Amino acid sequence: MAEKAMLDKQFFKEALLKMAELSETQRDYWTALDSAIGDGDHGINLSIGFRGISAQMDELYSSSADIPTLLKKAGMILLSKVGGASGPLYGSFFMKMGTPVAGKEAVTFSEFADMIQAGVTAIQVRGKAELKDKTMLDALLPGVEYLQTHKEDADVLSVMEQTITLMHEGADSTIPLIAKKGRAMRLGERAVGAKDPGSESSWMLMNVFYEALKTQQAGAAV
Ligand code: ADP
Ligand code: MG
Repeated sequence: MAEKAMLDKQFFKEALLKMAELSETQRDYWTALDSAIGDGDHGINLSIGFRGISAQMDELYSSSADIPTLLKKAGMILLSKVGGASGPLYGSFFMKMGTPVAGKEAVTFSEFADMIQAGVTAIQVRGKAELKDKTMLDALLPGVEYLQTHKEDADVLSVMEQTITLMHEGADSTIPLIAKKGRAMRLGERAVGAKDPGSESSWMLMNVFYEALKTQQAGAAV
């Protein structure tokens, strides 16, 4: 295991491309979740947004001198291409993720943890939702809290694995909730028993970072 994982621009490029692949394979599933308690477009929204990112990736990559610039441009594509609530929310995540590492071309795992924190804070600022409002934050917040506490641990893969487990559990925790934000709010008690679509897409998208980290660490260990 490498002592300090350095994640470079290429790492974030690969992760974004994998997120685009995931958005294709999960499109119908995320959309079905949204059909139950929303308007049935969540998977479609993300697939349109991430298709935009992958289509422009070569240009984005070569025109971005550092990681924050690449992520900001990707976020702006989500913001501009996605009609639903999730476009501006995920857009804000990527646009603000680079704030703690301005100008950097490579980051440590600890800095990466700060980036995830900054991104999730941006979702909170934009959407003004709180824990237990039955949104993507129910998945993201428990993981981010753990990640912040453990960002200096040596075994970064274990930390990331646990982060994702907590996010996954957070998504499952939305099932019994009444929604306080988003379209599902209108359903009141009728939303009880359905998982929030954004909580499911968010833990799955964050899992792409975990998978990318595993690949990166396998390479770094050689
Ligand atoms: P829309 O609701 O406009 O159709 P999507 O279907 O793409 O947009 O996304 C819905 C998801 O967005 C919800 O499942 C929820 O997780 C998330 N969401 C909606 N409003 C908020 C908010 N204010 N804060 C955080 N997440 C939200
Ligand atoms: Mg929707």
